[in-house]
Amino acid sequence: MENTSDMIIRNVRPWGKAPSDVTIVDGYIADIRPHQQAEISPPPGTILDGEGRILLPSFTDSHVHLDSTRIGQPFKPHTAAPGVWNMIMNDRKNWRQENESAETRAASTLGRMIARGATRVRSFAQIDADCGLERYEAVAFAKKFHQSRADVAIVAFPQAGLLLEDGVPSLMEEALRNGADEIGGIDPCGLDKDPVRHLDVLFGLAEKYQVPVDIHLHEPGDLGLFSIQLILERTRALDMKGKVSLSHAFALTGSPTEQTLKVISELAELDVAITTVAPAGRPSLPLEALTAAGIRVGLGQDGQRDYWSPYGNCDMLDRTWQLAFTNGFRKDSLIEHCVAIATIGGASVIDPKGYRLADALDRPGLSLGDPAELVLVAGETVAAAVMDRFADRTVIHQGQVIAAQGRLLEASETA
Ligand SMILES: [Zn+2]
Repeated sequence: MENTSDMIIRNVRPWGKAPSDVTIVDGYIADIRPHQQAEISPPPGTILDGEGRILLPSFTDSHVHLDSTRIGQPFKPHTAAPGVWNMIMNDRKNWRQENESAETRAASTLGRMIARGATRVRSFAQIDADCGLERYEAVAFAKKFHQSRADVAIVAFPQAGLLLEDGVPSLMEEALRNGADEIGGIDPCGLDKDPVRHLDVLFGLAEKYQVPVDIHLHEPGDLGLFSIQLILERTRALDMKGKVSLSHAFALTGSPTEQTLKVISELAELDVAITTVAPAGRPSLPLEALTAAGIRVGLGQDGQRDYWSPYGNCDMLDRTWQLAFTNGFRKDSLIEHCVAIATIGGASVIDPKGYRLADALDRPGLSLGDPAELVLVAGETVAAAVMDRFADRTVIHQGQVIAAQGRLLEASETA
């Protein structure tokens, strides 16, 4: 019996290499061979003309806040005063005042991300005394709405602290009972100013519900390194190797020092992952040193045009350019490394059992047996595609074309 999930992508260049024909069977890459100009007898199943475009693993957004997005809403001037607490309060004052519900905004933003090539996503959902589980439910709606197009992990996230307002830990627990996939923390010293209690509550819930932990760590320098030590202690004590991520990790930015290299090796030993949103205005994470140490590194877009920042356009290829740009990379191999981080690197952050980058020259995700989570992008070379960021994309999830030319295909076309 013909397997209707089969597909041949003709004339694509895996990681920018020679034109190839790639066969997909049951959602996995089953064959890759040099492109044949003429098919004498077309095989059964779908044929997708790659038109000579570059084939890449699909993007992974490993750090996005779908609950706060204002993508698609009328642009508003930025009104928040500087400082994390001011940003939190400004967002709290405004986030409900939109033309569309949080559910609709989250689903439409996720749809745009998918249409631009992301099929693997880790999104935060703010839980606090003001919003309760409203924002979690918005992200859960978006996840369900696009369940046939992307794999989404939701992190219950105490953006306004775990301890500063009453009832937040029990709300976090409620989100976990309602299906949140992971639990988040934030600046244990800098925000809650009680790092031991913050981390004990956080890791206690992680252990109780057997979920991974992802901690926003904006704390710089020695303060951040101190928090990392407390996080490592708990990761070790609870045997949570491979289940902890640090977002931002500003304490590790800049050229590696003897002190930060020691911390990096401790993080590697406990398989703690790191994600970045490639921020401007500060030193970058030492990507090559992190990858060389065996640390899983992912890239994300953070908030999308929200009350925190006007930046963000749902395009992980754009954010990949930003990662290369903020690192000052010019060499093609380093720009391609950014693509590897934005695709397979992030996938291994969300799923530690997935393939992890061996080194900065590793270009995985397109071998026989790999899942057909793919994106076709226009461009001369991979580095050129990052510089040009053409809108011409085709997105494949579980072996099915789900988006083309920046638009999601209708459900009937993907069935
Ligand atoms: Zn964040």
